[in-house]
Amino acid sequence: MSDSDEVWDVIVIGAGNAAGCAAMAAKDAGAKDVVMLERAPEDEAGGNTRFTAGAMRVVYDGVEDIKKLVELSETEIETTDFGTYTQDQFFDDIFRVTQYRCDPEMAETLVTKSLETLVWMRSKGIQFVPIYGRQAFKIDGKFKFWGGLTVETRGGGPGLYDALQDSTQKNGIQTLFNTRAIELLYDGVKVGGVRVKSGGELRDMKAKCVVIAAGGFQANPEMRTRYLGPGWELAKVRGTRFNTGDAVNMELKIGAASYGNWSGGHAVGWDRNAPEFGDLAVGDQFQKHSYPSS
Ligand SMILES: Cc1cc2nc3c(=O)[nH]c(=O)nc-3n(C[C@H](O)[C@H](O)[C@H](O)COP(=O)(O)OP(=O)(O)OC[C@H]3O[C@@H](n4cnc5c(N)ncnc54)[C@H](O)[C@@H]3O)c2cc1C
Repeated sequence: MSDSDEVWDVIVIGAGNAAGCAAMAAKDAGAKDVVMLERAPEDEAGGNTRFTAGAMRVVYDGVEDIKKLVELSETEIETTDFGTYTQDQFFDDIFRVTQYRCDPEMAETLVTKSLETLVWMRSKGIQFVPIYGRQAFKIDGKFKFWGGLTVETRGGGPGLYDALQDSTQKNGIQTLFNTRAIELLYDGVKVGGVRVKSGGELRDMKAKCVVIAAGGFQANPEMRTRYLGPGWELAKVRGTRFNTGDAVNMELKIGAASYGNWSGGHAVGWDRNAPEFGDLAVGDQFQKHSYPSS
């Protein structure tokens, strides 16, 4: 194991949407040396962010708010009834879907900051477009959106990941691919860095601050079965194969309290012939892969 004397201002574990936004926010807050650690190789990087359709739930009060996010043409404005999506609707949707098993403070932040967050993401180069393709229908000559979803990222998940990479690079934030965080460097008082495995070697990276944005445990059959229940080891994973619960395990290992709804998840009916990982639409390139070993 080689230790480096370099001390990063911020190390972000992961390279999906949470990580990219955290890294850019750290830069905004004045951090100079910020790096993202990505377990996956470059051609599979970006976690579930790369698999999302990119639909973004956001509170808005009519077309003027949508114009803060999207460059709309005159025709789009004339032929679309954008309606509204209120804070109350967003809260109701969260409560209904989670059956009230949600953290009140996090829900409050998510809802009340949703518009300003997307405006901030736009200022960082993330582009949004109206979801005419799958969330709108035409009534009396006007498009209307349904399901509380009105905008998505341009190019869906791959578009979002590419824009995040572009933007972080322009902000001087490097992504280290094939670099798996395996342990937090913890002295019993504070976290001072991350032990990583890269190119078959272990190395310690020191940091003043570590942000963990390394996804969940969807791609770990043992953890799925332990927390969601028997039979879940058989589920197909529509997303990345790299989210195997490292973030959760690293935190529990240093004594973090477990919190929240561990046995809940977002699952949909799926094709039994689907690949073990990845979406059907983009599954071909991932079909050949099995569980990652490093
Ligand atoms: C098919 C599909 C469709 C979806 N559609 C939507 C949608 O339309 N709208 C919506 O809002 N959400 C959608 N989602 C959910 C959305 O994709 C996720 O909530 C979001 O991408 C999570 O972002 P994240 O940055 O937290 O995690 P991720 O994007 O999963 O990023 C985790 C990152 O951590 C990395 N990582 C994991 N372990 C380590 C480690 N030990 N060391 C270093 N790096 C590590 C991963 O490789 C990855 O880069 C969808 C998800 C799927 C799978």
